Amino acid sequence: MGKYLFYRLLCVFCVTLSLNVQAKRNIPEADSLHIRFEFKTSIDKQAILPKNFTDTLAKINILLNKVFSSAEFKDSLYSHTFNDSSYSKSKANCFIRVINEQTHRVDGSAVYGNLTADSVINIELAIRRTEGKTRTQGFSNACIYKITSNDFWMKPDQLLAFRYVRHIAHEFTHIRGYRHDNKVATAYKWGRNPGEDPAYGVGRIVGNILERWNKAGIIKL
Ligand SMILES: [Zn+2]
Repeated sequence: MGKYLFYRLLCVFCVTLSLNVQAKRNIPEADSLHIRFEFKTSIDKQAILPKNFTDTLAKINILLNKVFSSAEFKDSLYSHTFNDSSYSKSKANCFIRVINEQTHRVDGSAVYGNLTADSVINIELAIRRTEGKTRTQGFSNACIYKITSNDFWMKPDQLLAFRYVRHIAHEFTHIRGYRHDNKVATAYKWGRNPGEDPAYGVGRIVGNILERWNKAGIIKL
């Protein structure tokens, strides 16, 4: 094993260990739920990424597992409801459609159930060189376990792991069937209020949890 590879593996191991030790001590899991994301990455040859990107990927994997398995994630989602928007034109059947018949809205508990239906979540992370002037972080499609991301925002600053975790949480919500306002039939539209949108809602909840844990010294972003 080359010296470089050895230190590289050691570094990933250290990040894993320190986060695990801290997490075990401080983060209660929801009903002993263990959600594990497993990523396969495909990186475009043209993409420009920070030098320590492998470490960042290891870190986001651990953070995502911890957030999705946490009681805080469940409690936060349970306290929200969203517009009944998510499935209007979808023929996708990889998720169960759950609408609250009384309120005609999507309860956060249904979104939580959809996101945590599988304990192991395999996703391909495709990273590509940004084309043109797009400001879109990336995209995904319902039931296809692939998240394509543009490289323009993947800069070597401290917040990359934080931003990437939020991004994956947002896109995974699309994979599980929830759409933005511009992708639903007119009758289901809710305007631009991100509070009504499950993908923005999940991204924000995940971001808030990470910020709270960071502040409390449970993790280091
Ligand atoms: Zn989106």
